[in-house]
Amino acid sequence: MPGLHKVLEGILRFRSTVRADLVKQFEKVRDHPDPKAVFFTCMDSRMLPARFTQSQVGDMFVVRNSGNMIPHAKNYGISGYEVSVTTEPAALELAVKRGKINHVIVCGHSDCKAINTLFNLHQCQTKFDPESPMDHWLRRHGYMSIQKLEQRLKSESSVKLKFESENPNLISLTAIIDPDEKFNVEDKLSQINTLQQLTHVASHGFLQEFIETGRVFLHAMWFDIYTGNMYMFSKKQERFLIIDEETATPLENEVDEEMKEAKK
Ligand SMILES: [Zn+2]
Repeated sequence: MPGLHKVLEGILRFRSTVRADLVKQFEKVRDHPDPKAVFFTCMDSRMLPARFTQSQVGDMFVVRNSGNMIPHAKNYGISGYEVSVTTEPAALELAVKRGKINHVIVCGHSDCKAINTLFNLHQCQTKFDPESPMDHWLRRHGYMSIQKLEQRLKSESSVKLKFESENPNLISLTAIIDPDEKFNVEDKLSQINTLQQLTHVASHGFLQEFIETGRVFLHAMWFDIYTGNMYMFSKKQERFLIIDEETATPLENEVDEEMKEAKK
């Protein structure tokens, strides 16, 4: 099988090149684990979070799924669970409580097939397949993102969308999405979705004290597949900014200020 051949060949290459060095790094991290972040992103094969962030062994947790969704705590199923028992909140809890990370990053991307599907399902509701796990996943966790896209499309491009958790102390931000109309509607939805998912992150009760005491911070990023630019959402400037030599320090300062503010 050609597909599997490529995987096995890659493993052979790994064994003869980087394996020995990585094993040494694994040993070091086993005794002194110090991860800094949990990175939620899409499962898209073009998204390579470790490469984009140049992160090393032990630096961050990565959770990937279709459309970088995080189920809201009140994501009650038919039987009405008290707690959302899904992978993403469980991973979040593990990263925060055991991993003691300080940053939760939700990262979307352009030309996201999951987001395109979410948009298509909204455009043509008859396309929804009640037997499709993906359709259910996207509609349930992307519903609020669609509502906010509608709001954006009905208004001027400078309209400020509000993203707030039930407890506004946890996350409350306003966002101007694609003010220059550079991106298509699906990419606008993808950017909106990363911010919406931050409010879902904040809905989980176990996180509350970590956010309120300035131990955990929430960030949205967005990767443009066609240009290779990574964007970060600036809460101060209320928009996504390309991370480059000019913006990286101000973006970092912004988070430092947020940190100081939270610890007061
Ligand atoms: Zn995607």
